[in-house]
Amino acid sequence: MENKEFHISLKCFFCGSDLNIVSKKECKSGDVLKCQECGELNDYDSLKDMAIEEGKAAFASYAKGEISNMLKDIFKK
Ligand SMILES: [Zn+2]
Repeated sequence: MENKEFHISLKCFFCGSDLNIVSKKECKSGDVLKCQECGELNDYDSLKDMAIEEGKAAFASYAKGEISNMLKDIFKK
């Protein structure tokens, strides 16, 4: 399986807009990120947890695609 990057965006809990994060390195546990759209404050820890869950789901569906491609190859032969 080739290496594939998954781009996970952090979304505002309140309005669902993408949060523009200038530098992810500056975000740390306990930070709050202000949404540019609605001005609500999002808890970074919760956003990060959600992004990790999304990443897992994206990877799972990618892996499923790889497996079904492999099976197709097998049946061709
Ligand atoms: Zn918002």
